[in-house]
Amino acid sequence: RRVLLTGGNGFIGSHILAQLLDSGFSVCCAVRTQEKGDKILRDFAVQQDQLAITIVPNIVAPEAYRDAVQGTPPFDTVFHAASPFTYRDVQNNLEFLEPAIKGMLNLLKAVKDNAPSVKRVIWTGSCASVIDYDQLTSDPPKIYTEEDWNPITWEEAAHGDPSKAYRASKLFAEREAWNFMKEEKPHYDLVTLCPPATFGPLRHSISSIGDLNESNSRLWKLCFDSTKDAPMPYIPVHTYVDVRDLAAVQLKAMTVPEAGNQRFLVCAQQFGCQDICDILRSRFAELSDRTPLGKPGTSSLPPGAYSVDNSKVKRLLGVEFRTLAETVADVACCLLDIEHTE
Ligand code: NDP
Repeated sequence: RRVLLTGGNGFIGSHILAQLLDSGFSVCCAVRTQEKGDKILRDFAVQQDQLAITIVPNIVAPEAYRDAVQGTPPFDTVFHAASPFTYRDVQNNLEFLEPAIKGMLNLLKAVKDNAPSVKRVIWTGSCASVIDYDQLTSDPPKIYTEEDWNPITWEEAAHGDPSKAYRASKLFAEREAWNFMKEEKPHYDLVTLCPPATFGPLRHSISSIGDLNESNSRLWKLCFDSTKDAPMPYIPVHTYVDVRDLAAVQLKAMTVPEAGNQRFLVCAQQFGCQDICDILRSRFAELSDRTPLGKPGTSSLPPGAYSVDNSKVKRLLGVEFRTLAETVADVACCLLDIEHTE
């Protein structure tokens, strides 16, 4: 089987790519430049015979994906993980909103018009399209399910702070995608996967901690290299998933027929930065001077913090989530290695 993957050079996309290759699939990665494609070929050098690169310079342009979706041999599944998720160099909120929304719609349309062999499109969404970030605590605590949608408006997204624009980019991209499916009734089905903060060791190469993806970079700043006495909250996100488990869910979403046209919250469990700091301090002596102490063994979550019901993804896709201790230890080994070789 042959699949098309967007975002394969990023943090999450490279784990999807790794698991696809390890499972024997042939994968074509759509990236913005040949340079980014060459880097994927280097990072996955031993599996190069299963890999191809196609260049899509601007996912916002009309017909952006027209050629990329026409593979030879044809594609069976399309994974879409490309979307802006870094606050570096952002000048305008539309830099989040446009690529997320137009990129999604351009891809769905291209598959409808030009890729009759594709049976399923699997999209990396986010809990950002589910959670109301203006209501992080309540009594009793809110437990989110696949029925919930972030109530943020376009006005807030376009003119609020950039984090609102990022979250709304995921919300509006997902809403538009489901609208497209309803109105256009294409020949394929759609699966949307909504992960929370996603942590884990890197599968793509980076040369310095400064090049870390957004979620691991925040973790680094708060827990690995902080002058603050107490662990700061990873506000407003109170749940996490390990990137390897998320990638495993993506592969299951491809093969389980019942996943078609379903939305999944892909969350392991709640976490607070205190939990992460406790794990780091107990296992990594070299971090004791720069990992906040806080109040070991206590919860740093605010009272009434929301949580997420992950029973649907467990039931339908049968994935067991790693423990926070395993995830954090593996992230630490990976990030400290990068720091040592900088
Ligand atoms: P990365 O920044 O590591 O990867 C982002 C990917 O999207 C890269 O391949 C990047 O390519 C591509 N991309 C970004 N902007 C554009 C654009 N304007 N046009 C074309 N491609 C673009 O982030 P993650 O791997 O963490 O994120 C991947 C997806 O997962 C995103 O959709 C994100 O919203 C979602 N997500 C991430 C979470 C996390 O905690 N990490 C949590 C929930 C969802 P390039 O190198 O060319 O910029």
